[in-house]
Amino acid sequence: MTTARILSQAREEKRTVLTEIEAKQILAEAGINCTETVLATSREEAVSLCDRIGYPVVLKVSSVDISHKSDAGGVKVNLNSKEEVEKAFDDIMTSCRAYAPDADIEGVAVQSMAKPGTEIIMGMINDASFGPVVMFGLGGVLVEVLKDVSFRIVPIDKNDAIEMTTEIQGKKLLEGYRGQDPADVECLRDMLVKLSDFVDATPGIEEIDMNPVFAYKDGAVVVDARIILS
Ligand code: ADP
Ligand code: MG
Repeated sequence: MTTARILSQAREEKRTVLTEIEAKQILAEAGINCTETVLATSREEAVSLCDRIGYPVVLKVSSVDISHKSDAGGVKVNLNSKEEVEKAFDDIMTSCRAYAPDADIEGVAVQSMAKPGTEIIMGMINDASFGPVVMFGLGGVLVEVLKDVSFRIVPIDKNDAIEMTTEIQGKKLLEGYRGQDPADVECLRDMLVKLSDFVDATPGIEEIDMNPVFAYKDGAVVVDARIILS
């Protein structure tokens, strides 16, 4: 229900970009685990939401006009007190207004701070020749510099997901290295199939970016998400 409401509202507003909050609500409804993320439109509201969510928290600018939030000074992580949240709220507003003076800023996305894990990216693009394809790769420098990613045409099944997680060059990083925990690849495969099922059942999606997803020994969580409609 949430998904249908968000999509129809965006279309009514003639908007193709969804906010991180909307994107995570949609992905959560598709069964994909995301950090709890809610909108605060004032500094006071941000503080009271943090009390509910529990510290540490992350604050991020919420604006359809700012898609690379860090570049705008719009992300503050590991906030541990009311005072830190108040300062982060003000700092985000100041730097984002300076970075994008015409941006329509609805507030901040208040979210639980995920503990560090193996950084993964997952997503979907609507390819001109192949139609919707899903993508899997390692996050951070590896994906940006080496483009170490795998693709499959939607819909995918469990076996496709197994191939996607084993054919990347850096797959050893998923198995744990230098004392780091291995990533729960079963969970990542399950997320890929759920992403594919969602895309297959939902026309009109142009692009989905889950970057990063943190993978743990047990489970994984989406900490940033972006959805673009056709
Ligand atoms: P951007 O729009 O710049 O991609 P992100 O939401 O990805 O912004 O945030 C930038 C970085 O901050 C992420 O790559 C991640 O390392 C960290 N981060 C963001 N949200 C969280 C969170 N909820 N918990 C932990 N770390 C986070
Ligand atoms: Mg991101």
